[in-house]
Amino acid sequence: MSDLNTILFALNTLLFISIMVGLFVSWLREKLHDRDVRRRLKNLEGEMMTEETMTRVHSPALDALIGKKLPCLGNQGWIMLVDYLGDDSAIVQAARTSYGKGTKTVSEDEGLIRYLMRKRHTTPFEMCSLKLLVYVPMDAWRQWIRHRTAKINEYSTRYSLAIDEAAITNYKSWRLQSKRNKQGSSLPEGALSFPEAFDPEKASDYHRDAIGAGMTASEYLSVREHEFLKLAREIYEERIEFGIAREQARKDLPLSTFTLAYWKIDLHNLLHFLGLRRDAHAQKEIRDYAMVIGDQLVKPWVPYTWQAYLDYRENALYLTALDVMILQTVGYPSEAIVQARKLGWLELTKKGKLKRNRERTECEAKLERLNLPVPWRNDGEEA
Ligand SMILES: Cc1cc2nc3c(=O)[nH]c(=O)nc-3n(C[C@H](O)[C@H](O)[C@H](O)COP(=O)(O)OP(=O)(O)OC[C@H]3O[C@@H](n4cnc5c(N)ncnc54)[C@H](O)[C@@H]3O)c2cc1C
Repeated sequence: MSDLNTILFALNTLLFISIMVGLFVSWLREKLHDRDVRRRLKNLEGEMMTEETMTRVHSPALDALIGKKLPCLGNQGWIMLVDYLGDDSAIVQAARTSYGKGTKTVSEDEGLIRYLMRKRHTTPFEMCSLKLLVYVPMDAWRQWIRHRTAKINEYSTRYSLAIDEAAITNYKSWRLQSKRNKQGSSLPEGALSFPEAFDPEKASDYHRDAIGAGMTASEYLSVREHEFLKLAREIYEERIEFGIAREQARKDLPLSTFTLAYWKIDLHNLLHFLGLRRDAHAQKEIRDYAMVIGDQLVKPWVPYTWQAYLDYRENALYLTALDVMILQTVGYPSEAIVQARKLGWLELTKKGKLKRNRERTECEAKLERLNLPVPWRNDGEEA
């Protein structure tokens, strides 16, 4: 019996010791792990948070532009740089945190930025931002503020009198509605003439007077614009004189009236904005602003990022799976035509002409860009 007790006691002691040893080992492991993490963080801090990398980044090119009006819309509108944060190096700095290495050589930094842009690793670009003051007509502004990722503070026409300026159209700049693109426009070859724009039989007294005075339709449109803007302003100011509230008096002001706003956005979302608004499909007025922002601010501010953006976004070519199918048949036009038929791209109207098809037209534009023949076209004629 006493032997059994001794054995049980020894087993219990052994169990107790092994539990204690187990607990000690896991405590020790945790301690060592913590120490390792602390050591690695310290190393990282050493690499990333040196005084040199933590000082505020300055871009001499942008410093020189702060507070200067950059004209847009033929000198009527403008944008002004108010402030900026970061530059190409801030993008590299953020990206290397992901990979645990500090800033390297200039060429490696450029390569990293180009890699991030290609692979759509976007957050490092969000480390940089621009704050602008923009002076822009309401019609362009209406499109501008659809970009929800920016921070905005706009001049209030409830609080203050509406800005007494409207965008004027040069008489040579009236654009015609595009026949192909319902949202597009094109400049006429020369000045618009009345027979193109109006039926002389139905011409109003205004038109007859203008024709009598030897005006072109383009000049006439500009004269009418002037009259309308003058009247709209007069009515607005009359309402104000009558004591009508500014918030109501403004209701008939034209979309050409200017507004003023602070617009702050990070570089990633700015490039998204520029990608959409510098595109040929964007309206000319907002495109004008986007061109100035890209060429005069973003380019000197973050030159590597800007070049990567041009190479991988703005000047790149996006191919759909359908485009790829057509491209795979380059050199075999009859096969391409079979594919295009399967895709429903070559349906004919009753008159035997190709029906309009947006995807086909887009694919044709891509083939042209690649200097490749459009397989279903014969000597420039659509088959
Ligand atoms: C040529 C052209 C024609 C257009 N025509 C019309 C038109 O006829 N009618 C019309 O109403 N608009 C029109 N638009 C506006 C367009 O539909 C977008 O609203 C505008 O371009 C803003 O784009 P975005 O939403 O990608 O940009 P941002 O608002 O800057 O957003 C950037 C990105 O962030 C993400 N994001 C932001 N907010 C949200 C959210 N709340 N939920 C989910 N994701 C979010 C999205 O991925 C988005 O792409 C047109 C735009 C262009 C360029």
